[in-house]
Amino acid sequence: MNQCWVCGGQATTHRNIGERTGIFFEPFKEDVQRCYCDSCFRKVMEQRRKDHAEYVRLKKKLMFERAVCILERQDLCIYDYKEAINAVREFAEEHPDKFDSAYEMIAAIILVDNEIECKPQYKVGDYQCDFCIPAWKVILEIDGDRHRHRKEYDSDRDKAIVAMLGEEWQIVRIKTEYLDMKADLLVEAIKEVIRHRIKKASQILHTD
Ligand SMILES: [Zn+2]
Repeated sequence: MNQCWVCGGQATTHRNIGERTGIFFEPFKEDVQRCYCDSCFRKVMEQRRKDHAEYVRLKKKLMFERAVCILERQDLCIYDYKEAINAVREFAEEHPDKFDSAYEMIAAIILVDNEIECKPQYKVGDYQCDFCIPAWKVILEIDGDRHRHRKEYDSDRDKAIVAMLGEEWQIVRIKTEYLDMKADLLVEAIKEVIRHRIKKASQILHTD
């Protein structure tokens, strides 16, 4: 029987703690992994959970700061966006899992500034979408570099999402480069994609 790693007492819990998330992994290897008594094990787990939550909080805080810095480099008056910036900051603090990148945060700021209702990290079946814009029946995806290597996967994914939501729904993909340069034109860009689709749809029906 091994000693508790923390207090030196008798270890009753032969479990180790996962590197990143605090999830246990099996099998336990005696003398290789740390052992704990029940009481220390609970404390260590609790601390790990707190540290992880704090890590995520700080990571998202820095991500948000980066988002605002990217906006500051652009040809816009940052003070015009103050209300939207504060609203998205508060939302991100409350729901740290709702944004995966600074660019998603930028998109949220622009949508909020334009008073467009949006749901970040929207789940459709097993798919996680960046934003749902219900009023426009649009799923908005913010595409970074990794998209270049996933075109085929994404087109299958888009089809599956539209099949679940309904044919009237549309996936709009916006590149992060665009948000890097002209974030304030995001809404216009989405509208342009929608207009293009309406035009295409109207070309299907003919009277002659
Ligand atoms: Zn102990």
